[in-house]
Amino acid sequence: MFGGAFDPPHVAHVALAQAAVEQLGLDELRIFPTGQAWHKARALSAATDRLAMARLAFGAVPRAVVDGRELERSGPTYTVDTLRELSREFPGAQLVLVIGADQAEALHGWRESDQIVRLAIISIAARARPVRAEGAFDASNLPAGQFEPVELPPMPVSATEIRQRVAAGLPVSHLVPGPVARYIDQHHLYQAT
Ligand code: ATP
Repeated sequence: MFGGAFDPPHVAHVALAQAAVEQLGLDELRIFPTGQAWHKARALSAATDRLAMARLAFGAVPRAVVDGRELERSGPTYTVDTLRELSREFPGAQLVLVIGADQAEALHGWRESDQIVRLAIISIAARARPVRAEGAFDASNLPAGQFEPVELPPMPVSATEIRQRVAAGLPVSHLVPGPVARYIDQHHLYQAT
């Protein structure tokens, strides 16, 4: 399971998905664009746009399948609910939750994090920090569970930066897969109002 707002999906998301499939030997990587995530204050772009962009971005990653079910839930989305559904749908399967290090540091605050670490191995990819942030990844807050790193060269890219660049009229074609860049352009996403 690899979840995210994917608003928009960018090159680091795709690299992380590829690395997870290869390094963890996954049978399948299910990509879940999130509904209105409880921990993000900003209103996300339309579910249809994020789903379409996720399909464009991850379409070329072997074994990756985009799953839109969290977008159909009313109210906030919780990872633990999706993991429970997956464990019912795939009895006996070993579930793996793939997340970037920034999310891993916040994992202890997620709803039922003790259950999350019981339901899945947590697979953490390093995330390049903003220049001013200090210190390495802080694992001290992680709940007890099974962890597996995903090696990923630091890729200092974020969806926030991409939205800001589009709004400022700056190019983003080096930061998102080509079909996503075209989708953003054609649908006039992230334009300054
Ligand atoms: P935003 O800037 O809007 O907060 P984001 O770039 O962090 O977005 P998300 O969709 O929130 O993107 O991220 C989905 C998942 O991908 C999270 O687990 C996040 O940690 C991980 N991720 C995002 N960008 C990177 C990156 N550059 N390197 C490693 N992991 C990343």
